Amino acid sequence: MASLMNPKWNGQFSCFDLVARKDDCSRSLIQVRDFEIGGGDFVVMAGPCAVESEPQLLQTAEAVAAAGARILRGGAYKPRSSPYAFQGLGVEGLKLLNKAREETGLAIVTEVMSEEDVDLIAEYADIMQVGTRSMENYALLEALGTCGRPVLLKRGMTATLEELLRSAQVIAMSGNPQIILCERGIRTFETATRNTLDIAAVPVLKAVSHLPVIVDPSHAAGVRSLVPVLSRAAAVVGADGLLVEVHPCPEHALSDGNQSLDFPEFRRMMLDLQPYLDLQQSSRQLRPQLLAAGGAD
Ligand code: PEP
Ligand code: MN
Repeated sequence: MASLMNPKWNGQFSCFDLVARKDDCSRSLIQVRDFEIGGGDFVVMAGPCAVESEPQLLQTAEAVAAAGARILRGGAYKPRSSPYAFQGLGVEGLKLLNKAREETGLAIVTEVMSEEDVDLIAEYADIMQVGTRSMENYALLEALGTCGRPVLLKRGMTATLEELLRSAQVIAMSGNPQIILCERGIRTFETATRNTLDIAAVPVLKAVSHLPVIVDPSHAAGVRSLVPVLSRAAAVVGADGLLVEVHPCPEHALSDGNQSLDFPEFRRMMLDLQPYLDLQQSSRQLRPQLLAAGGAD
């Protein structure tokens, strides 16, 4: 199987031995509560950019669960580009996430920005999110090695795939092999979108690593109208799931309202996604080798 890999990737990733794909083709399955990420299921994580209030979070949790999401996202600690922007509710936000989990059964993914917060956030989160600005925060990555929770590692906005896997290797070497990679768009010269979704990152990462790969179309696009179509693209190229921003009233969101879907939009997106997931499923059965290898040269 390895011989089907593009020769350009030979040796480029194999030094990251704990996260690089082995010849036996086995893939990592990440157990989250009563389901797995990286198996056959396409797992959708959805919710607000930031936890703002109890009604905002609980209404969103109910709406995304009803539409088929398995995991609630929401930042309690927010890394903002501007020091004047809303910085998050901190521990109050974590308590609200816990309440939403109790009421809906959704698992929780939330961002950890500092190694000092790892233990506290691990008490509340089912998955620890490392944001794009923290991908190379090695003190944080090392602290996550012993947190006992899966880590959702977002690609740095100017990071190569090699650098992303290097950070994954740091987490794995620190003792935690439960890692989910996330393509969330990279910075390019294009300005029509907030970032440029590197859709090829999905099949490349799946060819060179055994870790699950998800796509965040919200931060990639920056505009809500593109989120459904980018989600379909993610499904077709074989992503293991999505991370999507949803808000009860995006125009009043304290952060990232422009790229957040409202509830009807999210419901529609989930419905429209199904034929694309079916397509990916059937093509995987028809041509398992080629897709598993991420395409021959
Ligand atoms: C987020 O998911 O809330 C976030 C801040 O994303 P990123 O780190 O990709 O900008
Ligand atoms: Mn956001």
